[in-house]
Amino acid sequence: MIPFEKCPICGGELEEKIVEKLLRGGDNTAGLKVQAEVCLHCGERLYAEEVDLHTCFVS
Ligand SMILES: [Zn+2]
Repeated sequence: MIPFEKCPICGGELEEKIVEKLLRGGDNTAGLKVQAEVCLHCGERLYAEEVDLHTCFVS
């Protein structure tokens, strides 16, 4: 779960949303839906599950 109750950037309210991240690997682009908390004030996205693009594609 997300360790934040408020936005760590501005202290605004967070709303849980499903957002789509685009992942690119070579010629392929994949959309990955992830749960995130989105700040209603500044729009900062806090991802519920750590999405580390480097571990996906660097090898
Ligand atoms: Zn914020």
